[in-house]
Amino acid sequence: MDTRQRICRAIDDYRSRAITVSHAIHEHPENRFEEVFAAEQLCAAAEALGLKVDRPIADLKTAFRAEFGSSGPTVAIFAEYDALPNGHSCGHNLISGAALSAVAGLHAVASDLKGRIVFMGTPAEEGGGGKILLLNRGALKDVDAAMMAHPMDGDWATMPALATCHIQIRFRGKAAHAAIAPWAGSSALAAVLQTFHSVDMARLHFRDGHRIHGIITNGGQATNIIPELTECRFVTRAYTASYAAEMAKRVVLCAEAAAMATGTRAETSTIAGYKNMINNMTAAHRYAAHSETLGVPAPDAPRDLPTGSTDMGDISHAIVAIHPVFAISSPGEGTCHEDAFVKHADSERGYNAMIRVAKALAMTAYDLLAEPELLSQAKAEFAANRDS
Ligand SMILES: [Zn+2]
Repeated sequence: MDTRQRICRAIDDYRSRAITVSHAIHEHPENRFEEVFAAEQLCAAAEALGLKVDRPIADLKTAFRAEFGSSGPTVAIFAEYDALPNGHSCGHNLISGAALSAVAGLHAVASDLKGRIVFMGTPAEEGGGGKILLLNRGALKDVDAAMMAHPMDGDWATMPALATCHIQIRFRGKAAHAAIAPWAGSSALAAVLQTFHSVDMARLHFRDGHRIHGIITNGGQATNIIPELTECRFVTRAYTASYAAEMAKRVVLCAEAAAMATGTRAETSTIAGYKNMINNMTAAHRYAAHSETLGVPAPDAPRDLPTGSTDMGDISHAIVAIHPVFAISSPGEGTCHEDAFVKHADSERGYNAMIRVAKALAMTAYDLLAEPELLSQAKAEFAANRDS
């Protein structure tokens, strides 16, 4: 039997165990950096396969790493498992289930691998940037390529994830009684509102496909006091980190102008968020070919596909990386972060997709190790696109 067929058969044999783990994680949602239960489930499953698991790694209590194979190039398969306040509304239990299943399939052919497979638990994708911490702390220094797959409402070999930039703004005004002596105060709330209006007017001038969104986190102290302190936050999203930063500068100008207009003082801080995803097309197209063989075409995502952001973007600026997405719902039935997506992440359709995607990931990882020219082509593409 062909090695790829053996991988797929092993994944089929692992199906019920993988679903048990994924379902347990779904039933026990944990937010970023607190994924103790999920990490425990995955590590126990990896150990049951016979792997030696290192944990914690990189000073992250819920990160882990296991590896197997032989000397040669190294491919990492990432598991995300953090939830959101509304549960597993991003379906990360399926990401970890697919990663675990892929690892089970590859481990079944470990003696035939022409390199190493790393199974890595990557916590806190939802706003914590766990992969960036792992990257910066050296956890990926010997890895040639990394992969994961994310549930969505469509099947695509790539994901045009946007770069982000975070802006925090605090306005300091002057408190006064809102009825007895409003003229004695200066309103920090007026400054926040003015900032949102100015940002809305600036939208026209941003390039197509970009996003900017914000919330007021502190709108004042009492209705009968002119607010002396307010706070708001914005996120800018763009196709490149440099343009996200440029948009952020505009937000800061809006805040400074609002402060001037309202007689308040603006304190701003800007923090770079996730980088845009540079999808490695060489590896992504190999994934797509396997997905098609398994009965589900996964074409390149259109550039204007509605999308979010991911810390996998930062990984893709450092090494060869792919982040295909797979449908567990149909358009209109709910997608990532929506309440309706929680049930899709624990559905028959979701688990069927998880097992299929595990096979496509595992075969792609196998190919990258088995075909030196495939990996070198992927690396040449990475070098040509770096920092784009
Ligand atoms: Zn997600």
